[in-house]
Amino acid sequence: MSQLIDGKAAAARVLAEVKAEVERLHAQDVEPALAVVLVGDDPASHVYVRNKVLRAGEVGIRSLEYRLPAEASADEVLEVVAALNADPAVHGILVQLPLPKHIDEVRVLEAIDPGKDVDGFHSENVGGLSQGRNVLTPCTPAGCMRLLHDTLGDLSGKHAVVVGRSNIVGKPMAALLLAANCSISVVHSRSVEPEKLCRLADIVIAAVGRPRLIDAGWIKPGAVVIDVGINRIEEDGRSRLVGDVDFAAVQQVTAAITPVPGGVGPMTIAMLMHNTVLAARQQTGQAIQEAR
Ligand code: NAD
Repeated sequence: MSQLIDGKAAAARVLAEVKAEVERLHAQDVEPALAVVLVGDDPASHVYVRNKVLRAGEVGIRSLEYRLPAEASADEVLEVVAALNADPAVHGILVQLPLPKHIDEVRVLEAIDPGKDVDGFHSENVGGLSQGRNVLTPCTPAGCMRLLHDTLGDLSGKHAVVVGRSNIVGKPMAALLLAANCSISVVHSRSVEPEKLCRLADIVIAAVGRPRLIDAGWIKPGAVVIDVGINRIEEDGRSRLVGDVDFAAVQQVTAAITPVPGGVGPMTIAMLMHNTVLAARQQTGQAIQEAR
């Protein structure tokens, strides 16, 4: 019987740790603060920002919201980022993606002070991650690592296959698994017969954005599967969320698997709060000493 990896429970544990750390910082007169910059009126982005602000409040992190209209220029967004970089009372800065098409996302992300880059997308943090340094790390892959450590303990020597090579999930995921001493393979849209490589894996991370692409034929019996995908589909006359993994079929062969929803999703916001506290600690002179 496959173990169901409970992302809600794991996220609650991370948030409890964060809350305790926030209380320690408050006792030292440090009030961790997260600034969220939202440009335009993408409905999904508004929901994500609302959830992040709510979660911050629950753990005692002060949040500041900066909303700019869809027509805002890149310079206006950069001005907000510069002001937040300069404000010592702000420890974390998150620019909600996607930005409107006329704004160069890379230029905006590169303008964020790397020490306040709680999404971990600045090239300095990306480079630091690939060198195995303790830097702010993208939230979704960091959340997946927590789930894997909770499930398997030490990951040394495991063969992990990451399906997908995005900058946000696939690539940082591969870097984190490598840092945890896994052997890694990354398969993507140009891979030839990715299912053959996947079938060799002890750990499969699915981050593709294709509903139920990965079926039982991709999975070695006894593997652990982490499904990052969030896909909205119409089925049996109703709308529902499914992952990149065909859960019902794959669950028959795995040792452990995350559900969608209730798996990786809750971990992403929890790790954002974790990163905000790390950033606050670092900016107030307490080095990041995280075990991965
Ligand atoms: P993306 O579109 O940027 O990247 C998808 C990757 O999948 C690409 O690298 C592509 O090469 C690869 N791919 C496409 N078709 C493939 C195929 N047939 N076989 C193998 N690889 C293939 O997507 P992303 O931003 O990495 O997101 C992936 C999924 O994860 C989406 O469903 C997204 O909604 C979800 N997501 C969830 C969270 C969360 O908090 N749970 C966070 C970020 C993304």
